[in-house]
Amino acid sequence: MKTNEIKKMGINIQNLNGLSTSEIGDDHISTSLETPMRKDAFKATDEEKKNKIALLFEEIMNVMGLDLTDDSLRGTPKRVAKMYIDEIFSGLNPENKPKIALFENKYRYNQMLVEKNITFYSNCEHHFVPIIGKAHLAYISSGKVIGLSKLNRIVQYFAKRPQVQERLTNQIANELSKILGTDDIAVIIDAKHLCVSSRGIKDESSATVTCYYGGVFNDSKKITELQNYINS
Ligand SMILES: [Zn+2]
Repeated sequence: MKTNEIKKMGINIQNLNGLSTSEIGDDHISTSLETPMRKDAFKATDEEKKNKIALLFEEIMNVMGLDLTDDSLRGTPKRVAKMYIDEIFSGLNPENKPKIALFENKYRYNQMLVEKNITFYSNCEHHFVPIIGKAHLAYISSGKVIGLSKLNRIVQYFAKRPQVQERLTNQIANELSKILGTDDIAVIIDAKHLCVSSRGIKDESSATVTCYYGGVFNDSKKITELQNYINS
């Protein structure tokens, strides 16, 4: 669809580097570090959102001609609405951000700490189909240390949003850097996008790798060391 046709339909489009949103969609370009949210995103309660999503999803199913009086389909709109708000998109709500407590680095451990193979499920914001991947995080303490499971929770929080992998990588890095008070942070994400494997180009074997190297990780020796740990 051409940009002016989309405009005629009254759909608000952002023009990014001269590309229409339909072109951007298939190329998976992210626009900023922050997930684009409206200012009134949290005016409605979770319950109100679930009720509205259930109605709208029922409409989508109706439009596709599905018979919602069928026992198997009847509960789907509500199930989808609950899943969106309580589970797979719960990371949109800042109230669900994990509470992080830091500890003094009493062990005086001053080498890199690597938490690897953190499995996550996210969803591509251009197609709303799953992104399945592993995240590897590393940091060097600036005096404080973080509970290991919290690293996992930070990944899950940012994954539970409509996402693009580049933004997910940077959001995790940015959060870690803020919490730990250091830029000595590395984030590597290796993920499969179902919008690439199950539709569109239908490439089953390709995977996408993104990384963030901050501070001392901008050094080829440190990167090699980190990669050795991840591959070991
Ligand atoms: Zn996609």
